Amino acid sequence: MGSNVKRFDPQFSLASNENRAAQKVVLVAGGAGFIGSNLCRRLLAQGDRVICVDNLETGRLSNIGALMPEPEFRFFLHDIVEPFSIKGHVDRIYNLACPASPPKYQKDPIHTFQTSVMGALNLLELASRKGARVLQSSTSEVYGDPDVSPQNEEYRGLVNTMGPRSCYDEGKRAAETLFHDMHVTRGVDVRVARIFNTYGPRMDPEDGRVISNFIVQALKGEPMTIYGTGEQTRSFCYVDDMLDGLMTLMECETCGAVPVNLGNPGEFTMNELSRLVQKMIPEHGGAVYCDLPKDDPRQRRPDITRANTLLNWEPKVSLRVGLVPTVSYFSKELELSQAHTNA
Ligand code: NAD
Ligand code: UDP
Repeated sequence: MGSNVKRFDPQFSLASNENRAAQKVVLVAGGAGFIGSNLCRRLLAQGDRVICVDNLETGRLSNIGALMPEPEFRFFLHDIVEPFSIKGHVDRIYNLACPASPPKYQKDPIHTFQTSVMGALNLLELASRKGARVLQSSTSEVYGDPDVSPQNEEYRGLVNTMGPRSCYDEGKRAAETLFHDMHVTRGVDVRVARIFNTYGPRMDPEDGRVISNFIVQALKGEPMTIYGTGEQTRSFCYVDDMLDGLMTLMECETCGAVPVNLGNPGEFTMNELSRLVQKMIPEHGGAVYCDLPKDDPRQRRPDITRANTLLNWEPKVSLRVGLVPTVSYFSKELELSQAHTNA
């Protein structure tokens, strides 16, 4: 671990910022992960000061290595399950801290639940003390295995309380309740995004989600592992579109605590996704059918009317277009890890 990585220092404060009106101090919990590290870059590019807090459970230092020397960026190794404080001003808090891939969040389900609930509470308390606005990265998983399609925000979901996915789904549902109640009882300024499947550069090749699995398997000439019949559906959003949605929601002055779906309504079966990846990667090794994991949702597609109305937001990048930089990113990651192995 490099000298730029510090354990969390409760006395930490960024140097005094005379130009604070123009420059925001933004805390990104989970900032070393896939979405978080892309967000840190975007915030720095627009002139914000960024405090990244992450326990590196699924995040990687390589995602933020290039940001470490930047004067406006600080990284702290900290588990948000433990309370923490920051000396000085904080304007915005993004809560992206939680493993998002099913095999990863199922590895330690109790810690996943603690991260979702106690972590959210710790960030809400921090926001309350600082007068900061806090955005929760909730998920389409709050709809469980939905029996309506597309899913709008009024749909209350079909979720198993006792299954392999429950630690994540129910943790995220409980966190939404906390966000709602901290807003109503303590006036905390909250935003809630329900994120649908998102992909793009800086995903961990070992992450275990379908896009990373299929692309990495195809690049290695191994068969893509299609679970079940492959006829279940997902809607995939490119990360740049997701960041536009999250950042617009954060700055929305009229959105309050209402949950907002963010995702790309284009819906694909896993068989269709596999065929798309095969077309893009000629050296692919075909596909193999494997057991379907328990409680795997059969369909998922966002109704984004609310995001469109409130934020004037809709995704711009189709799956076919977004897969191009994603394949190129994974290809470079594999080359790097091959070079590392050979060294
Ligand atoms: P990710 O696993 O790449 O990133 C999560 C980050 O949070 C990692 O850096 C991890 O180390 C960190 N983290 C986990 N537990 C922590 C803890 N207790 N304390 C501090 N840091 C912790 O996942 P992602 O895809 O970037 O997802 C980011 C957020 O968006 C998650 O909250 C996830 O639930 C939500 N989300 C993502 C998707 C998606 O498709 N990517 C869909 C719905 C919701
Ligand atoms: N999936 C698959 N092969 C894989 C990984 C996942 O067929 O190697 C399927 C999985 O069963 C699910 C869909 O792809 O139906 C999306 O899975 P992912 O883990 O990406 O996210 P989820 O939406 O299930 O949380």
